[in-house]
Amino acid sequence: MEKYNLEKIKSVHHWNESLFSFKCTRKNNFKFKNGEFVLLSLIDKEKKIIYRAYSILSSNYDNYLEFLSIKIENGIFTNILKNLTVGDNIYISKKPSGTLIFENLLNKGENLWFLSTGTGLSPFLSIIKNYEIYKNYSTVVLIHCVNYKSNLSYRYYINNIFYKNIINFNKLNFIYYPIVTKEKFINNKRITEIIKNKKIFIDTNLENFSKFKDRIMICGNMNMLIDIKNILQSLYNFYEFSSNQMGLFATEKAFIES
Ligand SMILES: Cc1cc2nc3c(=O)[nH]c(=O)nc-3n(C[C@H](O)[C@H](O)[C@H](O)COP(=O)(O)OP(=O)(O)OC[C@H]3O[C@@H](n4cnc5c(N)ncnc54)[C@H](O)[C@@H]3O)c2cc1C
Repeated sequence: MEKYNLEKIKSVHHWNESLFSFKCTRKNNFKFKNGEFVLLSLIDKEKKIIYRAYSILSSNYDNYLEFLSIKIENGIFTNILKNLTVGDNIYISKKPSGTLIFENLLNKGENLWFLSTGTGLSPFLSIIKNYEIYKNYSTVVLIHCVNYKSNLSYRYYINNIFYKNIINFNKLNFIYYPIVTKEKFINNKRITEIIKNKKIFIDTNLENFSKFKDRIMICGNMNMLIDIKNILQSLYNFYEFSSNQMGLFATEKAFIES
């Protein structure tokens, strides 16, 4: 386990029967960029080491690490993870990685868009708390699409604490746009749909995507990633970040589908 730091659970919050989040200690020398993911590792009943990728939800200036997790029925990893309580051990890989970092986008935008589904919210919560992005973009938009209202994790935090302490206090321009697809809610159309029918531009009072002013990060399920990628490439001529060029948009899977 020399590639992992041993940390302790500090608090756990269960949002509903399929979603929870937790905070754990953070070693002083553990560095990461907002938006990156790590491997969380646990030891199962047979003393086997198991690990899974998790996006870090806390920001790099926080003295703790925070994660948001799905609870998969019969999920090998989450069946153990969901039962962790305060004081339990968790191993966290020392080398974070990921594509959803600020530096991967061509740095000449006016609007920075974060498009997420489900637990794909995590990397963006880490990034939006970073003041640097507001120096580079005049408007930051966070779209979070879920099936049921109870999966709109951190909605209260964003609408109240985050807006009050960070956005309004510093006079920043931030738009939170939650979507719920399977229950009555103010916004209930999927992200692809509101981009295609342009409702998102009307609702946010922003213009159609343009490569001169918009930069986009996407994190969510595979279908959503593919659909949005296609729209951005075919309708808007956007190109994606790759290892040899900065992009107008960057994507990351929120999980691997089996
Ligand atoms: C880069 C990356 C970052 C990730 N970050 C997170 C994160 O921040 N939070 C998180 O909960 N998971 C995240 N995951 C998924 C995570 O690694 C595990 O898949 C998850 O913990 C479930 O593990 P499991 O062993 O219980 O089930 P698995 O056997 O790993 O998964 C079983 C099935 O459950 C579904 N599934 C898995 N994860 C999710 C999810 N997050 N949302 C919806 N369906 C899912 C998929 O269909 C998958 O095939 C990430 C995955 C990747 C690749």
